[in-house]
Amino acid sequence: MRTRNAIILAVSSLLVASNIASCIRQLRTQIYQEFPQRSPTEAAVPSVRCIPEPDGHSEGLVTIWFDDGRDDTYLVAYPLMKQSGYRGVLAIIADRDMASQKLAPGNVTPMSWEQVAELVDEGWEISSHSLTHCRLDQLPMDSDDGRHSLSEEIVRSKTELENRGFTVSTFTAPYGRWSEESITLATELYRGFRTLVAGVNPLPVTGFKLSSCAIRNHTTTEEMQGWIRQAEAEHGWLIITIHTVTDRPDNDWDISIKQFVDMLRLINESSLAVVTASEALDHPGFGQPTPATATTVAPYSVPTVTPPPVISPDVFSNTVMLHIPAIDVHTRIAAALPTEDGESLDFSELDNVPMWVSDTRGIGEYGVAVIAGHRQWGPTPKIFARLDQLGEGDIVQIVTAQHVFLFVVNDPNVVIDPDEVEAEIWERDAQAEESGASVLALLTCTPYGTALQRLIAFAALEGVEEVHNQ
Ligand SMILES: [Zn+2]
Repeated sequence: MRTRNAIILAVSSLLVASNIASCIRQLRTQIYQEFPQRSPTEAAVPSVRCIPEPDGHSEGLVTIWFDDGRDDTYLVAYPLMKQSGYRGVLAIIADRDMASQKLAPGNVTPMSWEQVAELVDEGWEISSHSLTHCRLDQLPMDSDDGRHSLSEEIVRSKTELENRGFTVSTFTAPYGRWSEESITLATELYRGFRTLVAGVNPLPVTGFKLSSCAIRNHTTTEEMQGWIRQAEAEHGWLIITIHTVTDRPDNDWDISIKQFVDMLRLINESSLAVVTASEALDHPGFGQPTPATATTVAPYSVPTVTPPPVISPDVFSNTVMLHIPAIDVHTRIAAALPTEDGESLDFSELDNVPMWVSDTRGIGEYGVAVIAGHRQWGPTPKIFARLDQLGEGDIVQIVTAQHVFLFVVNDPNVVIDPDEVEAEIWERDAQAEESGASVLALLTCTPYGTALQRLIAFAALEGVEEVHNQ
């Protein structure tokens, strides 16, 4: 390995000036082009199909769970659900003012209470999505000012929703985060606690934490088909989590109307019955052997591919994506490969996208793989502008045509002098290799707008999922 030279080169390349427009804007334009606009009325909608079949004709259950009470759930998803004869679950942020504030940056408005009530009248179910949509893993049980505590978020959110006349049997964890304390408190008040840990739940439901598979902008029809097939095979309960459904997807949590209609069609063609959460929690199961615990279908827990595959340089001839939802990074990454004379690495794409430094470890390999990216140059924020805001536990995904690599940030915001970088990477690389750990180092400059120091966020590989291709 020529790690030493490569890292120095990566760091010095970070200083290269650039006048190009924001990478983020480019990516959003690409997403628009990928998903042509389509209005709900133009979209093909599956024919009406009966829901729960108590006589056991169905093979498993599916619940369509919408997060945050976004107005597109009412305006776009609800009419399509209704045409299919399906009812869903609405995860509602109890404090409406706070919901408006939290959704505003994404140009999303919360549904009105009248709209929420209309869906409940149609048989939809309300889940508490906390009072203010805070990360539960960062909150104390109680606080002096009576705000931002677990009792407010978990207990008062339920009371407020019940005071409006809604029945609330489940809790939906904001950002999919929780602490053991929050679980203990929630078990006293709720029948289930929905997470973003991907998987199919067993029937009858045996655990309190519920797995769910989130449809995101990069989710393919084949992946959705895979979840449904697994729920059928295991006679289990699939929860599908959805955020915004729109004809103008703007980030990875926005799905297109085409994706949503695809999902409805797949469910319609399946043997799964569409139910609400409490109907699934009441379900006795199908009298067939079911797994004792939720099984993993997506990379939020144990690796499903062993030993982990490694992203070799030739993989970069196809698109390799980097997703860091916590700081809204959704970008292609490129490889800085050796130049023709073999003397250095070619960082010419660094102005546009973050680059894997090919003389460090391959992504997935034991040791440290380095991805370098710009933070800012001139007045334009670059793709790693908010890298300092990453926190422990934040998710970093690398997606290739074959695999989804899930890394979890375990050492954010390491700030060091430029001449300390190589030693830092060397040391951690040796440790990681010895302990059989695959580590990702996201490298940029700091403080913002300067190149005085380096900022590195380290993340460890938690799992790899194979992309379904059938
Ligand atoms: Zn949410």
